[in-house]
Amino acid sequence: MKTLEDVRALDAADPLRSFRDRFDLPEGVIYLDGNSLGARPKTAAARMADVVEREWGQDLIRSWNTNHWMDMPRRLGGKVAPLIGAKPEEVVVADSTSINIFKALSTCIQLQPERSVILSETGNFPTNVYMMQGLAAASGGRVEHRLVATEDLVDALDETVAALLITQAHYKTGYLHDMQAITRAAQDKGVLVIWDLCHSAGALPIDLNACNADFAVGCGYKYLNGGPGAPAFIFVAERHQDRVMPVLSGWLGHARPFDFSDIYEPAPGIDRFRCSSPSILAMASLECGLDIFADTQMTHIRTKSVALCDLFIEQVEARLDGHGFTLASPRDATIRGSQVSFTHEHGYPIVQALIDRGVIGDYRDPGIMRFGFTPLYVSHEDVWQAVEILQDIMTTQAWDKPHFHARAAVT
Ligand SMILES: *Cc1c(COP(=O)(O)O)cnc(C)c1O
Repeated sequence: MKTLEDVRALDAADPLRSFRDRFDLPEGVIYLDGNSLGARPKTAAARMADVVEREWGQDLIRSWNTNHWMDMPRRLGGKVAPLIGAKPEEVVVADSTSINIFKALSTCIQLQPERSVILSETGNFPTNVYMMQGLAAASGGRVEHRLVATEDLVDALDETVAALLITQAHYKTGYLHDMQAITRAAQDKGVLVIWDLCHSAGALPIDLNACNADFAVGCGYKYLNGGPGAPAFIFVAERHQDRVMPVLSGWLGHARPFDFSDIYEPAPGIDRFRCSSPSILAMASLECGLDIFADTQMTHIRTKSVALCDLFIEQVEARLDGHGFTLASPRDATIRGSQVSFTHEHGYPIVQALIDRGVIGDYRDPGIMRFGFTPLYVSHEDVWQAVEILQDIMTTQAWDKPHFHARAAVT
């Protein structure tokens, strides 16, 4: 088991050590929830103030041209692209993940007129499943949604399936799917694949084009540190872009929005996957998060992420043996994202007691305590301290206070 000295030596040798200074985190907080809401880049406050005061306040509507507001969805898409193994012209930042899931699913349905099933796994993130249900309900019987257990996914791929919607890293357990193998298995059966990268973009190296991926969507406010409710991204492989008529045919996906024509004509390429006016304030804050990635490599981030997660598992299991914690994430780092979950019958109040002591993780039913490890701002010593505090909470039973049991709206 690693000692505090070992852990400090790891921090001293960490190539990402200086990145913590690029985030504003409150004193005394160990932030293990970057998988749900990333920390705030230091540049964000000044950048947002400039957008509000100068670009919006002074330059007003001219900013769409002069401050390049109109280009932001593509400019930011170009900054997401290297993180996910895509070409800049294959990614656009627009709308939300849920909306982008709908765009990708409806596109697959069009591309596969002789197939009717959209497939996903049981226990996928709820919005993914709900968007499938909504699309099926609106299709008047044309589309059927189907959910199968993870281990049955490959067997469920057949000639009735139009698209597989699959989340690379599971939000509860961090279980990581094999993108290459699943994409190949699906395409062998003529199935298009939509990768949801919400819990993997910015957390680990992704190479969509090396996997010959069809579609992908992902979130701006988790590991990309874009701010609460930040816009999402959508990736569409170049080969598919001009083959579809968008169902969400918003005016900014039009070839010439400022013709104000009565007839929708999709823009060439990835621009047709835009829908509404970009939320400029939210885009500005997301760009601050994305710019940090330009100064490092995803391989460094992944190496540290694995070390942090392994250290957390090792310390919890060694120091809290007999306290009722069960690892709910894969022990094998090659099939685990950047989070570690443990189950405990009192998971909810334990997480609240941790938060009260400055260790911020979160909770998902049933009994799952989630801890996300963002290598840009979490150190090995943070992991050590978090377990130290957890040990104290358990041995003193500090978690068992009535106010830690009361459920908040957001857990
Ligand atoms: C976070 C997350 C979402 C979020 O969707 P929104 O539309 O941004 O609320 C969707 N899917 C998965 C898998 C997620 O983890």
